[in-house]
Amino acid sequence: MRAQVFRQVGQPLEMTTLRDPRPEPGEVLVKVAACGVCHSDLHVMRGDIAFPTPAVLGHEMSGTVVEVGPGVTNVAVGDPVATTFIMPCGACPACWRGQEELCQKFFGLNRLKGHLYDDRTRLFDGRGEPVAMYSMAALGELSVVPATAAFKLPPGLALAESAVLGCAFFTAFGAVRTTAKLSIGETMAVIGAGGVGLAAIQVARAVGASRIVAVDVDDGKLAAARAAGATDAVNSLAADAAAVVRELTGGGVDAAVEAVGRGETIVQAVAMVREGGRVAPVGLAGPGATADIPITHLVRRKVQVLGSFGARPRVDMPAVLGLAASGAIDYRSAVTRRYRHQDAWQAYADLGRGEVIGRAIIDYAGSGG
Ligand SMILES: [Zn+2]
Ligand SMILES: [Zn+2]
Repeated sequence: MRAQVFRQVGQPLEMTTLRDPRPEPGEVLVKVAACGVCHSDLHVMRGDIAFPTPAVLGHEMSGTVVEVGPGVTNVAVGDPVATTFIMPCGACPACWRGQEELCQKFFGLNRLKGHLYDDRTRLFDGRGEPVAMYSMAALGELSVVPATAAFKLPPGLALAESAVLGCAFFTAFGAVRTTAKLSIGETMAVIGAGGVGLAAIQVARAVGASRIVAVDVDDGKLAAARAAGATDAVNSLAADAAAVVRELTGGGVDAAVEAVGRGETIVQAVAMVREGGRVAPVGLAGPGATADIPITHLVRRKVQVLGSFGARPRVDMPAVLGLAASGAIDYRSAVTRRYRHQDAWQAYADLGRGEVIGRAIIDYAGSGG
């Protein structure tokens, strides 16, 4: 198969022929339909997040099951699936606690070593040299994914566009619902109207938020935020965003999602929630990045700062798919750009320059042999 291989920080991805991978017990082989273009891959390509090389990145995927390993019962050959970027092992203490997003094998074997859960990769080059896998390595034409992270699409869902359900919407659902526990009638602010932020606005609307304030520094992204369901939009270059949000909501929002990953925006989020409000940071940052939160404000006002990473695949992904199937979230409109497989590097370059409003996908259909 052909795969876009990441060889070195700062160098373009390189289209390479790899051996066709095969699934082991408990795993699924998927013919990839589309791979979403997410900042986490870009962080790896830029060296902000350490990862072994050579590697195949890409962790936001949809496709069709072409083979299942022994013991797989939740999906079958021919099923259209979307995958969650977190692939729970199902058997570690975190998975047993129900906190699949903290799966120890996912972090210890996949995120550190690029392996699946027998501590080996499924990808090899033509000479048999191993190639690391970031999540399920969706920038290859074929992907092996643990069955715990593969979810059959409900009828009627668009195959390629469904890729964005497994990271952007999954992460947004985790932040808004699982972590910030936003409930009907509450108010929410979303800082950063990128792929995850726009999805968070849609999820907040779906759960019945009465007011959703989008905060960004880019008017184009704020216009997209209004289209996604934000009731108010604040450009934080033009105004003190926290003051505006407190004014708009009579003292602060019930909850805020911070989808930027910067200290100043986390401080901003803490300043824009009401007393007892919840802040859910979801944006990753470089090593050592910190946020300078005023202690007395945090303590006296009982502001809850709750880190949020993805969501719980087997609990939350069925809910995300249900929202997509019912039309409560419009994942199709979230996809604003398409690139061919051979143009994957261009997609990440455009994302890195801040040119992508909404979500781009690598669409394998029409990408040629
Ligand atoms: Zn992602
Ligand atoms: Zn686990």
